[in-house]
This record gives sequence, C-alpha cells and structure tokens, in this order.
Amino acid sequence: MLSEISMSGKIHSSPTLPPFDAENPLPFEYSTQDLRVALIDRSYTAMGHLAPSQRVHLQSHFPASGSDEIILAILNQWFVILDQAFFFGQLAQYIDIKVIHSPKSSWWGKYNPNTKLVLSTLRENGIRSPGNLTLWGPTIIINTGVEGTFEWRMQFMVGILLHELVHVFLDIFACQCVGVCLEEFSKVESVGLTGHGHSFIRSLAALQTALENEVGWNVEVALTDSANLEMKAQEKSMADAEK
Ligand SMILES: [Zn+2]
Ligand SMILES: [Zn+2]
Repeated sequence: MLSEISMSGKIHSSPTLPPFDAENPLPFEYSTQDLRVALIDRSYTAMGHLAPSQRVHLQSHFPASGSDEIILAILNQWFVILDQAFFFGQLAQYIDIKVIHSPKSSWWGKYNPNTKLVLSTLRENGIRSPGNLTLWGPTIIINTGVEGTFEWRMQFMVGILLHELVHVFLDIFACQCVGVCLEEFSKVESVGLTGHGHSFIRSLAALQTALENEVGWNVEVALTDSANLEMKAQEKSMADAEK
C-alpha cells in the first residue's frame, strides 16, 4: 500500500520517465503530460471497459431520497465504475471515500489531509510548495450539504467525485521528485500551483464529456472555477516573484 511508499530520497536522474503502463502503473513514475494523454485517450474507449450491468447502472435513475449512509453507498458504487472506466481500475486500492454534511461550507469535495500517504508536496492554503515533505491523505471527502432534489444532489456529487478522482490520479502517478519534476508539476501547463493547471483541466474535460454522453445529464465538474483559481494563483506567484 501507499503508506509504505515514500517520495523522500527519490531522485529522477534519467532525462526521460517511463511511458505510462496502463496494465500495471506504479505510483510516482510518470510525467503529467503522459498521464494527461493516457486519461484523454481512455475517455474515448472508457465505456467499453465496463460490464453491461455497470453501463445499465450509469444510465439508471437515482433513488428518490436517501440518508448520508445511502449517499455514501451510491458514491462508492459510482467510484468503482468511474475507476474502471476512466482510471484503469487503479484508484480503488489507494483511496477511500467519506461523506460529511456541511451545508455552510464553501467546498464540496476535498481530501482528508490527516492520513498516511507520503508525498513530496505540501498543500498550504491549496498552494503547493516545492521542496517540502509532508503527510497527505488518500481519502476523498464529499460534502452532502448541497441543496436541491435528491437526484440533482447526487448528480452534483458525482461530478465533484470525478473532479477529485482526477486530482488523485495525477498526484498518485506523477513523478514529483524534488529538483526536477515537482518544479514542472507546479507550472500552469502541468498540474499547477493549486492542482488545477492545464493537464488537470484537459483531462477532466475529456472525462466529463465521456460521462455526459453516457449518463445523459449535465455533469458539473467546476472547470471554469478551477481554471480561474489556478490563474489567480499563478498571477499572485508571478507578482510575488517580482517584489
Ligand atoms: Zn521526477
Ligand atoms: Zn480541485
């Protein structure tokens, strides 16, 4: 498990990283460009990787109502299917989903930072600081406090889940070695300072389209807000550098 894997001390010295291995991908091994290409390619064939019963599940209605326990059970069913379709069936072994009911919060999905995965990236106020080592958690938390009909809320939460899964995929499989890849990782062309750089946006947009084509409803994944968040962080970073 990832708890035993550490980026500390990892040195990526050769000029090229191995190509993404969809059959047996290893954590912290690949360039974000390769991961982006892998996700976008996968978006075209994703539904072909599902069992017929899973495709029926994607096209069926949500229940009329449900408690947070039921929401969590539904999200876990979707997680298995989204993982199989889009993420090569690789994410379920690394992360768990939790739900919290917090209608007044300003966020709808995030990771639990208090678990055990060791990465070479520090998220402080959502900003990556190259060169720091920290513990970071492979748990996705979904806020069930969004208002609306149960069906609308479930659709919204599935979109948030997809958004978070792209973060997790890029973070788990991208090389983030300090001194080489982490600097690239933080650029807007890559994963960016907030995690919402071009590689993230393009990957998520491709998966969003593929999922919308299958389910027949609008999958809201916060692309515009995410891109704006990243642009603001990049502008602030450049302004700070000029001081
Ligand atoms: Zn590297
Ligand atoms: Zn995000």
